[in-house]
Amino acid sequence: MMNNRQLFLNHVGQTSEAPLALEMIRAEGAKLFDADGKEYIDLIGGISVCNVGHRHPKVIAAIKKQLDDYLHIMVYGELVQSPQVQYAKLLTQQLPASLNSVFFTASGSEATEGAMKLSKRFTGRTQIISFKNSYHGSTQGALSIMGDEYWRNAFRPLLPDIMQLRYNSFEDLENITERTACVIAETVQAEAGVITPLNNWLKALREKCTATGTLLVLDEIQCGFGRNGSLWAFEQFDVIPDILLLGKALGGGMPLGAFVADKKMMDALSHDPVLGHINTFGGHPVCCAAGLAAFEVLLEEKLIDAVKAKEQLFMSLLQHPKIKAVRSCGLMISVEFEDFETNKKIIDALITQGVFTDWFLFASNCLRIVPPLVISEEEITTACNKITAILS
Ligand code: PMP
Repeated sequence: MMNNRQLFLNHVGQTSEAPLALEMIRAEGAKLFDADGKEYIDLIGGISVCNVGHRHPKVIAAIKKQLDDYLHIMVYGELVQSPQVQYAKLLTQQLPASLNSVFFTASGSEATEGAMKLSKRFTGRTQIISFKNSYHGSTQGALSIMGDEYWRNAFRPLLPDIMQLRYNSFEDLENITERTACVIAETVQAEAGVITPLNNWLKALREKCTATGTLLVLDEIQCGFGRNGSLWAFEQFDVIPDILLLGKALGGGMPLGAFVADKKMMDALSHDPVLGHINTFGGHPVCCAAGLAAFEVLLEEKLIDAVKAKEQLFMSLLQHPKIKAVRSCGLMISVEFEDFETNKKIIDALITQGVFTDWFLFASNCLRIVPPLVISEEEITTACNKITAILS
């Protein structure tokens, strides 16, 4: 008889030759519990998903309530579903006036795909520009704009008319022209190992887009929902995108993505052709009920107010000669080591000692810290002490 780990390795499609392959059986707040009863401090929150903590009681209650009413009843976009419209209302209340129409999808990648299509349809242009070391998803459109050749090359041919610029390069912005449908950027680059935009660079990007009639798409799938210390990361850089991409924490632990734009723009997807972008599960009622409850918790419990202090605590404790650099933007933190081998050894030792973390896609020498925002000072101190003890 195979145990669950063997079944996982043999019968579940694998994404790498070295998955973590631990079996967690429960999660609560910023803690995970494995099948042997071992407890872990969760430093990655399902990769920036569980911002209000695992299994927040209000999220669980909202899910249970929705289960008593209905699950999937119809494809996205036809029926009025209360959790979906209530969530769209609250999201748009918390966004600038021009971001007033929410198109729900089932994942972040699909939000990227939808925004790429909307940009082409609305502008009538074909070129799409993205940035080196950016990640916007793994589907073929999103892969076409991924900022690293190594991850794309085996899957060519990909979308034509894609151009890649250097993030934070003022000079490269000159490549944005009247031919460009949209520029897609992460407000804060996550998988690059937490790269924050230079002073005024996002503003210069915004200005160039406006001057050329190009749409600015900001991907806040990983950095939205308080992660960087403000509800939306773009607030800190004084820009407003034409289209905003959301995912991960959007669903409060359930699968949900969205792209948000002005209704006048969004309506382009409803004609010529009709049904310009459709999907079955986008805005699933249970996911929207969970996401709405999580968003209310984020606002009501003022979780974002404590982000900067928690970031400072991490920064003050993460000091060791073997740490080459620590980059942070709120509770999105990258701890840089000499190379991947060093980082991997530290990550493995941390997991053995009950601290759960991993590395970044385009920065494999950097340890990832994107915990649930509810992580306590005590949990932060314990985790950081373990990191520095291992290094010594
Ligand atoms: N954009 C960013 C910035 C992301 O971090 C991710 C997921 N890691 C995506 C898009 C894609 O989201 P999903 O995995 O839900 O398709």
